[in-house]
Amino acid sequence: MMLIFQVYKELLKYYGYQNWWPVHEGQNRIVEVSVGAVLTQNTSWSNVEKSLENLISANCLNFECLVDIDLEVLKNLIKPSGFYNQKAKTLKELSKLFLSKENIEREDLLAVKGIGKETADSILLYALDKPYFVTDSYTKRLFYRMGFIKEKISYDELQSFITESIPKDIDIYKEFHALIVKYCKELCTKKPKCGGCFLSCNFKKVV
Ligand code: SF4
Repeated sequence: MMLIFQVYKELLKYYGYQNWWPVHEGQNRIVEVSVGAVLTQNTSWSNVEKSLENLISANCLNFECLVDIDLEVLKNLIKPSGFYNQKAKTLKELSKLFLSKENIEREDLLAVKGIGKETADSILLYALDKPYFVTDSYTKRLFYRMGFIKEKISYDELQSFITESIPKDIDIYKEFHALIVKYCKELCTKKPKCGGCFLSCNFKKVV
């Protein structure tokens, strides 16, 4: 069986660097990534893009505006990404946190209503350059199918398992997560396209 780090190397060889997280020209990376991490919950990135563009057009992709803006106006701006009632409140709370504290820690983010572990770790890794590996349903699906983990595993267990298996390097953390997402959207999909798979995986023998 391949080692976890070999999976990373194979994915990188096949797809190349993903250079996440994409940020619009002239925008503040910390703000845009943090806002994007909230908006992307339970929706596709194309819907997030529409909301981000609305915020940019309204000159509101900054923490000061997000705190001050009328809640109903904010809901309307982020409507394309769905769940806008909760997401608008979360964005306001998150912005208040960023404006009130310099060194944001994981527990600060988790204390904001609407921010779970995956969102918190996305902000920590991609906005704040802190070494938190982001795991999600794609990560779980791929590593379960490849035989690395059992089907039922908690977020923390999966995160520890991966970080213990790869070098502690934020660039690797960023790329590996992005590559897993890309791979699981293209090949290791719900109904996997094992014929085109280049990973050494026994799952293809049983699907
Ligand atoms: S062989 Fe199939 S199940 Fe295994 S990693 Fe490749 S696409 Fe996924």
